[in-house]
Amino acid sequence: MKLFEIFSGGSGANYAPPAEGSGAGGEVKIHPALDHGIQAGSPDFSGGVLTCHCTSDPVKVKVSAQTAHNHACGCTKCWKPEGAIFSQVAVVDRNAVEVIENGSKLGIIDESAAIQRHACKECGVHMYGRIENKDHPFYGLDFIHTELSDDRGWSAPEFAAFVSSVIEGGVEPSRMDGIRARIRALGIEPYDALSPPLMDAIATHIAKSTGALPA
Ligand SMILES: [Zn+2]
Ligand SMILES: [Zn+2]
Repeated sequence: MKLFEIFSGGSGANYAPPAEGSGAGGEVKIHPALDHGIQAGSPDFSGGVLTCHCTSDPVKVKVSAQTAHNHACGCTKCWKPEGAIFSQVAVVDRNAVEVIENGSKLGIIDESAAIQRHACKECGVHMYGRIENKDHPFYGLDFIHTELSDDRGWSAPEFAAFVSSVIEGGVEPSRMDGIRARIRALGIEPYDALSPPLMDAIATHIAKSTGALPA
């Protein structure tokens, strides 16, 4: 598997990019969970319940573990709240993820995508993304949006990924300097792929599968 195949597969974005400009003082909006400063995670936090946006019979997903690698993501595939340029997404052991209510409302956005995003067919919120390919470097981890939970203490965003990809979502390229500056001002680094440790983990996985490194 080549690097570019890891996250690709399936059709592109279906969200409308927010208009240029934003709140008071021309502040750049990244994501509602980050725009007012990043909240630290709690070391003894052990999970919570994610709820979709339906006002009746919402889908509920119980996550019985702390998340890891939480980050802002600029790709066009991750679910974003209305008006956000970035998503906020983290990973957690797939065995810690359990649909507990109204699972019949869930459908997979794109069965051909590396990450199968299980979304509420009524409100469109993605409840969890799951990898079924056992050879994928991140097999065993589900992707979730902790903002869907009222529980406090989830691991904090550590970096911004796929920042340049927000252009593919319709953001004016001239805004990129401001967007990257705002991400740095929040205390995290903007990367145009994943963070270096995660890119290294992917490359190591590939090198071991090709024999370039001993397995
Ligand atoms: Zn829903
Ligand atoms: Zn993404």
